[in-house]
Amino acid sequence: MKIDCIGLGCDECCRRYWITLFPEGAKRIAEEIKGPLKKFIEKSCVLIAHIYPKHGKPDGLTINSELLPRRLADFAGKEMQAVPPHFLVLPSLALKRNSSGECVFLSGGKCRIHSSAPAICKLFPFVALSKRPLKELYPFCKAVHGKAPESKTGELDKKQRARVNKYFDSVEEQGFTKLWKRLPTKAVVLLEGEKDLFISKREFLQLIQPML
Ligand code: SF4
Ligand code: SF4
Repeated sequence: MKIDCIGLGCDECCRRYWITLFPEGAKRIAEEIKGPLKKFIEKSCVLIAHIYPKHGKPDGLTINSELLPRRLADFAGKEMQAVPPHFLVLPSLALKRNSSGECVFLSGGKCRIHSSAPAICKLFPFVALSKRPLKELYPFCKAVHGKAPESKTGELDKKQRARVNKYFDSVEEQGFTKLWKRLPTKAVVLLEGEKDLFISKREFLQLIQPML
């Protein structure tokens, strides 16, 4: 959600997605809500691992499909036509969502942490890995509906991609638990950016074992 979305009467992207955080973004939110980072992480965040089929040579962010925790292997088997030999695993933290799927910071159609909201919130709808047109990717988004040219895609720009790559390079080089000294207790896996499954913290740590 951007500030002008309030004028459009829309808060749809705050109701549909897991909002991924990076360490500096988590610190900014904790400062805005004037509480300790530890409390913010415990109360308002979940562990999240985006997983995608890995094509090409395995690297430090890749796990062998045979090493998936059992429940996750069953889930992937059910959701995918063919389970690949490897998965790319991208671990981070995300903002919690309530039982209706809304971000916990959405209140009365407004964002309670607007000035420190994660970059992904302010960039939406330019947040996709897909080259598909915006109107096709996000038919519900009033900011693009009727305004965006048919050919405009939702891809992240080079600068944002570089920021995301820098974070995952740090995960690979330094380890997830060095970057995130505090971890939430709840965890979720997002398969190919669409299907999610709640897992335990133990299963999450098993999944990201090579990156700990
Ligand atoms: S942090 Fe704010 S802008 Fe981002 S999803 Fe939550 S309510 Fe929406
Ligand atoms: S879905 Fe589009 S119009 Fe609606 S809040 Fe998000 S960015 Fe704004």
